[in-house]
Amino acid sequence: MTVFDDLVGQRPVVAQLKAAVAAAREGTGGMTHAWLFTGPPGSGREAAASAFAAALQCTEEPAGCGYCAACHQVLAGTHADLEVVRPQGLSYSVRATRELVLRAAARPSGGRWQIVLFEDADRATEAAANALLKAIEEPPPKTVWLLCAPSPDDLVMTIRSRCRLVTLRTPPVEDVTALLVQRDGVEPELARVCAQAAQGDIARARQLAGDPSVRARRADVLAVPARLTAVGPAALAAESLVKTAEEEAKAMSEQLNESETAAMRQALGESAKGRMPRGTAGALKDLEDRQKSRATRIKRDALDRALLDLASFYRDLLALQFGARVPLVNGDRSRELGDQARRITPEGALRRLDSIMACRERLAANVNPLLAVEALMMELRTG
Ligand SMILES: [Zn+2]
Repeated sequence: MTVFDDLVGQRPVVAQLKAAVAAAREGTGGMTHAWLFTGPPGSGREAAASAFAAALQCTEEPAGCGYCAACHQVLAGTHADLEVVRPQGLSYSVRATRELVLRAAARPSGGRWQIVLFEDADRATEAAANALLKAIEEPPPKTVWLLCAPSPDDLVMTIRSRCRLVTLRTPPVEDVTALLVQRDGVEPELARVCAQAAQGDIARARQLAGDPSVRARRADVLAVPARLTAVGPAALAAESLVKTAEEEAKAMSEQLNESETAAMRQALGESAKGRMPRGTAGALKDLEDRQKSRATRIKRDALDRALLDLASFYRDLLALQFGARVPLVNGDRSRELGDQARRITPEGALRRLDSIMACRERLAANVNPLLAVEALMMELRTG
């Protein structure tokens, strides 16, 4: 077992990374100092970058043994020569990036490389991207940048062109199913349904398999098409869709905030009676601001995922209507799909898919969620 065995359904990427680590160890061909890991949500971009970092720092054979101290520390995010950047809000500032660039230029303290793993690098603002570009153009000899983004197009051309690309694919349903069964002990039939529904998003598949309330929310979303019988029910459907997404996001945010705030208060020297030392209010306020910004993002992501689930329903509908021999994403909803297939023409299904995509764009542009989703429901009802 090496650190690469955890990458589900990514054989070509594993081969690419292993070859790069071997070349780096032999000192042949020179090390590429900037890497860009891309792949659809849940394909494991960060996991791949992290495995690569572990293999680069690993002190044993085979590289990325998974047992030595360096491997452990990298995977736990505690290695002295690894900095993991995880933008929490909607964007990553130029100030933070400049500080990061300075730290990244330091020589490794004990490891082989000074590594920066930048998750969601697409959230860097334009000014931040420029600061990053300078660091990537003239890299210190021992510094390695691992950037992660959904697709190469999410980064400015100037950065993209200086990175070596690592392209993760959507993991096959069978591989995700096997992971759920073998590692998480999920019952095979449930595992298959969840893997299919998650469309290659491993984290989402795990959530679905592990939490009945997540499955219930998905069921609510997929029940929407059947509920769009008149204007009243359509408006209600919009309301409940937005509310469900908000509740889901709230639960997630609270969970994250609680432990984070407790850890921060402790680090700042909270007294046994819960009093904070002087001069710590600013740091706590900063944390609160970051948490608010993150909550906004989580809310947006939750609603977007609901819309993607809904889109998958209409895509399944099209597949059924055209008799395409592809596995359905919502194979467990064949009755609802059959009902709608009789009511809606293929052209109608296509128009509804377009409407959903247009709604997602409006939401990304900050339109009031309830208004946007209400308008969408009216289009789905009559479209
Ligand atoms: Zn190791």
